[in-house]
Order: sequence, then structure tokens, then C-alpha cells
Amino acid sequence: MDILVTGGLGFIGSHTVVSLIEAGYRPVIIDNLSNSDLSILQGIEAITGSSPVFFKGDVNDQALLSSIFEQFKISAVIHFAAFKAVGESVQKPLDYYQNNVGGLVSLLKSMKRYNVHHLVFSSSCTVYGEPEHIPVSEHESIKPASSPYGATKQMCETILQDVNWCHSQCLRYFNPVGAHSSAHIGELPLGVPNNLVPFITQTAAGIRKELVIFGSDYPTPDGTNIRDYIHVMDLASAHVASLNRLLKGENKHYFEVFNIGSGKGNSVLEVIHAFENATGVKVPYKIGDRRIGDVVQVWADTAKVTETLGWKPSRGIEEMMADAWRWQQQIQRNQELN
Ligand code: UDP
Repeated sequence: MDILVTGGLGFIGSHTVVSLIEAGYRPVIIDNLSNSDLSILQGIEAITGSSPVFFKGDVNDQALLSSIFEQFKISAVIHFAAFKAVGESVQKPLDYYQNNVGGLVSLLKSMKRYNVHHLVFSSSCTVYGEPEHIPVSEHESIKPASSPYGATKQMCETILQDVNWCHSQCLRYFNPVGAHSSAHIGELPLGVPNNLVPFITQTAAGIRKELVIFGSDYPTPDGTNIRDYIHVMDLASAHVASLNRLLKGENKHYFEVFNIGSGKGNSVLEVIHAFENATGVKVPYKIGDRRIGDVVQVWADTAKVTETLGWKPSRGIEEMMADAWRWQQQIQRNQELN
């Protein structure tokens, strides 16, 4: 079956493409390369032995979408293509609304025209804000968004609830990290990384002088923030499980939501120590000020996704760090060759 994967060369998209191929699906990728690189396509080929169909382009391009839907018999869409930097979204809100919200609307219009009624959507635990209950279940209330980025995820979920001809599954990701264990694909942050794990690997590699921990006076056991880190390959397999549910018609409602995390919380200091244990490489760090907008602690209640999709994460925090580090070293080897 042909599955359209928007943003299929991005961090989560590319790992999901690998899992789709391994599950016997044929991904058709559309990606505008705004935050990804064509070399990832070769990485996918090196892992799977097959090269997925790729279109360089934008989901806001209706003519391109039409030509793809006409050329392929698309059974479902997995929609990753979106901007994702919280800070940048404050600087460029209209770009975020146009790309993330406009992109979904454009995609849904094409899907409707070509009778494609199944969608897996990339959402985020950011919709819960600072949660009242931990672990966070899907019943947790949605909080007012603290950035235009967060607002786009909420708006997209609202749109999907209104579009009742489309069977959609919103996967609310916690913190995806790591890389494929082959080190053929992984995350390619643009410029200085905003996220913790790419910053750790770049610091360990000597690209950054030291990591700044954003606050150590939070009401947590060691004073640093707690997040739920999930291996990107576990996250990828959650997409396949969700897609299987849709395509078998097993979904109970046209709109369903699942939290996708490991179900465990790790503090910033625990992540640094896990990295050091897994790799034997030290990460120089210092304690800095809190980052505005950071929630204190959040991790997922994974009961619903485990019961409903039969999906469970299998990779622990040290494996996430070891794979992230292997990928960082590979990036550097590739740069030396070029
Ligand atoms: N963090 C940090 N230093 C950094 C980047 C992140 O201390 O250079 C912390 C951040 O405050 C948060 C955690 O690491 O507690 C995860 O941050 P990230 O931006 O990766 O994810 P998010 O905050 O969006 O969950």
C-alpha cells in the first residue's frame, strides 16, 4: 500500500519511513527540505535496501499534491511536515500559522478531492502545558498555548475534530531523541540546537563549549526539569501501529488521540549521566537561569496507547544516548569526507 509521508526526510519522518518499509508499506515522500537534507534519502536506502519515491515540494502546493494523488493510489497520509522551533514561532508567528495550519488545510482539501480518508497527525504533549496530573493521560485538559508553535498544534487538532469524513489519529509526542542504530539517519539540527540531546552530543563532540542546564531550583528531586524521552525508532513504530489500526478500520471514533512517550520521567541531570554512562564521554556543563516557558515536569501515561494499539516502547535512556552519540560521530565523519 502507498502511504504519503509529508516531511518524510525530517527527524521523525525519516525513521518512520524506515519502519513503514520494514512493515511492507510503500512510502511516497513529500518534503520541501526546509529543515532536512537529501542525504537522508540515501541513509534510508542504506538501511532498507529500497529507495522511496521522493518529491521535493510543499504541502501548500495544491498542484503538486494533485499530481501525487493522481500518480499513486494513496491509502493513507502521515503528516509530519511542520515548523517546530518554539522560539522561532514567537518571532515569525505568521510563517508558523501558514506552514503548520495552512499546510494541514491544504493537505485535507486534496485528500478530500481524491477520496483519501485516513490520516496520522504529528501532535505534541505541548498541548497539555503544565499538567495537573502526572503521568499525563489523554484526559488531561488542554491549556492555553504558550507559543504560536503550540497554538498551531492545538488548531490542527481542532480542525481534525471538525473534519468528520477523515479518520485521524493524533499522536502527541513527548521528547523524541536518539537515532537509527545504524547511524545512517538521525536528527540534523539547523544551527545551535534548541533541544537538550543534540546539544549534549554536540558538546561531547567539542562543537559547543559547555551545556547550560536551564535551572536547578525546580521542585523536582534534583532540581532540574523532568521530561519523557522516547527513542525515535519506538516513536516510528507507534506510527505504523496507528496506521494499521486506521487501515483495518479498528478505530472506534473518527478522531482519536494517543500519548506517545516512554512512560518514564528523566531529569536533565539524569539524561547527562545516562549519556556519560552509555558513551564514556564527559559532557561539560554549568547551571544557568531557567528558560522562560519551560514546564517543570511532564511524562506520559501510556496505558491507552498500549491497550489500544498494542504498542510499547522497548529502548531505554542509555540506548537513546548511545544511538544519538553514534549518529553525532557519523555526522562528523560525513563532514570530514565532504
Ligand atoms: N535544556 C537544558 N539546556 C539546553 C536545552 C534544554 O537544560 O541547552 C532542558 C530544558 O530546560 C528542558 C529539557 O532540557 O527541561 C528538555 O528540553 P528540550 O528543549 O529538548 O525539550 P522541551 O523543553 O521542549 O520538552
